[in-house]
Amino acid sequence: MRRRLLTAFNGLLALIALVSMPWLGWVEAGRQGYSVTSEVATRYARDVLYRADKTAAQARDTVARLDAAGFDACSVPELKLMGHLDLSSSYIQGLGRIQNGLVQCSSVNTLKFDLGKDGYRSPSGAIVHSTVTYGSQAPGEVMALQWKNFIVFINRDLPLDTWTGSLNVELGVFQMDRPASSGPEVARGDVKRVWLTHLAGLGDTSFIDGGRIVAVVRSTQFRIAAVAAIPIMEFETRRNAIAFRLVPAGALAGLVAAAAIVSLGRRQRSLAAALRSGLRQKEFFLQYQPIIALTNGQCVGAEALMRWRRATGELVGPDLFIPVAEQSSLMTSMTQRVFELVQSDAGPWLADHPDFHIAINLSAVDFHSITLVNTLDKFMHDTCACPQNLILEITERSLMDVGVARDVIHALHERGYNIAIDDFGTGYSSLSYLQSLQLDILKIDRSFVETIGMRAPTSNVVNHIIAMARDIGMRIIAEGVERTEQAEHLTEHGVQYAQGWLFGRPTTFEEIKDMIKIPSQKLT
Ligand code: C2E
Ligand code: CA
Ligand code: CA
Repeated sequence: MRRRLLTAFNGLLALIALVSMPWLGWVEAGRQGYSVTSEVATRYARDVLYRADKTAAQARDTVARLDAAGFDACSVPELKLMGHLDLSSSYIQGLGRIQNGLVQCSSVNTLKFDLGKDGYRSPSGAIVHSTVTYGSQAPGEVMALQWKNFIVFINRDLPLDTWTGSLNVELGVFQMDRPASSGPEVARGDVKRVWLTHLAGLGDTSFIDGGRIVAVVRSTQFRIAAVAAIPIMEFETRRNAIAFRLVPAGALAGLVAAAAIVSLGRRQRSLAAALRSGLRQKEFFLQYQPIIALTNGQCVGAEALMRWRRATGELVGPDLFIPVAEQSSLMTSMTQRVFELVQSDAGPWLADHPDFHIAINLSAVDFHSITLVNTLDKFMHDTCACPQNLILEITERSLMDVGVARDVIHALHERGYNIAIDDFGTGYSSLSYLQSLQLDILKIDRSFVETIGMRAPTSNVVNHIIAMARDIGMRIIAEGVERTEQAEHLTEHGVQYAQGWLFGRPTTFEEIKDMIKIPSQKLT
C-alpha cells in the first residue's frame, strides 16, 4: 500500500515537473513581454515629456529676456528682439505683447488681434490659452502661454512629434492641477486624465488599461505629466515571440526533470527491494569503532556501525542505505537486525563486562513505537547484559518530532538505559530542550571537532558546546578525533570520551576485545 502510494506520489511529482516547466516558460514570456512593452511606452512618454518641458522652459526664458530688456511695448528694438528670439528658439512659433486679451504686436507682424479670455492660470504663473489662431497657422494648431504682458505662441503638436514606431501609439500631455473633467493639453489619440491617478506619488508608472499598456511619467520641472499608450497587441506579439523560445525550452527541462524523478524513484524502489532481500539473506554486519576514555586511553566502549555486503560483493555504507530504509519503512527491521548482530557478536561477553558499553544508532522511527522497548527487553533477557552495557544514540535532527519520542525516551530511562544525542550541533536544539529530555550523553559532531586548532571562525563553538553540556550535567563523547592536538584540547576542556581515526577505525568486535587489554598509546 505504502509502496503504491510512493509510486503514485513519484508519478504526480513527475507530472507536475512536466506541466509546470513549460507553464513557467509561458509566465516568464509574459513577464518579459510586458516589461519590454512597458519600457517602450515609458520611453515614448519620456520623449513627449522632454519636448513639453523644453518648450515650456524656452517659453519662460524668452519672456524673461524680453522682460529684462525693458523696451517700450511694441517699440522697434522690442520687435527686433522678439524676431531674434523667435528665430533662435526651436520650440517657439512667435512672441508678442498682450493687453486685456488683445495682442498688441508680435514677432510675425504689428497687427493687433483678439486672443479671447478662455485662458486658465497654471501653477508656474502662466496663463494658458489652449487653442488660438496665430499668423498663417491653421486654427487650433497653436497654443499660447502668457506671463505678465508677454505672450508666447507654441505649436501644439511639437511635444508629440516624436518617433513611435507605430501610428497606433497614443500620446498626450496633461496639466496635473486641472479639474478631473478636463482633457489633455495636447494629445494624439484617446488619452485619459484618469490615468494620472496611477502615479500616486511615483515619478513614473505603467499598467494595463482598456486593451492598452499605458505609461505615465511626471515632469520634475513643471506640474505636467506625459502619457503613452501602446495597443496590447504589441505586447502579445512580443510575448508570443519570447514564448516561442521559452516554452519549448521549459518543456524540454520538464521532460528531463520528470525523467530524473521517475528514474530516481525507480532506483529508490529497486534499492528498497534489494535492502529487503539483503535483510532476508543476512547480508548486513556490524563494525565497531572504539570509544576511549581521554583521561587514561582505556577503550571503554564501541559504536556499532552497520555495513552491507551485497551478493555481488559490493560493500555499501550506511550513508547510502539508511535513508532508503527510513523512507521505505524498513528501519524497524534494520534496527532489530542490529540488536541480533550485537547479540551474536558480543552478547554473552557483555554480561561479564558490565563496565563496557556498545553504542547503537537509532532512527527517528524507532522512537515512534514501543517496539524498540520490547526489542531491548528481549535483548537483555537473552544476553543477561545490563542496561549500562548499551548507549542508545539518537541524532539531534530525529528529535525534532519530540512529542512522539518523549514516551519512548521516558520508558528507556525507567529501565536504566543511557541515551546519547548524536551529531550534536547539526540541528537546532536549545539548552532547555535538551534539559527537558534528560539525555545522558552528548556526542559532539565531527564537523566541530575538525575546527580545533584551525583558527576557523567556528572553532570556538566546540568550547561552548562542552561548557553547555557540563552545565547541564551531560557526559561528552567527541566524534571524529583524528589528531593528537584535538585529543589534547578536548582533554584540557574536560571532555571524558572520544572516538575517531586517531584511536581506531571501525573494525571487528574481536579486535575491540583485544584493545581493552592494551590502553591506547595515542594520548601520551
Ligand atoms: P555516526 O553515527 O555519526 O557515525 C560516525 C561516522 O563517522 C561513521 O561513519 C564512522 O565511520 C565515521 N568516523 C568515525 N571516526 C571518524 C574520523 O575520525 N574521521 C572521519 N572522517 N570519519 C569518522 P559510517 O560508519 O559511514 O556511518 C555513517 C552514519 O550512518 C552514522 O553516523 C550513523 O548516523 C549512520 N549509521 C551507521 N550505522 C547505523 C545503524 O546501525 N543504524 C542507524 N540508524 N544509523 C546508522
Ligand atoms: Ca552515532
Ligand atoms: Ca555522529
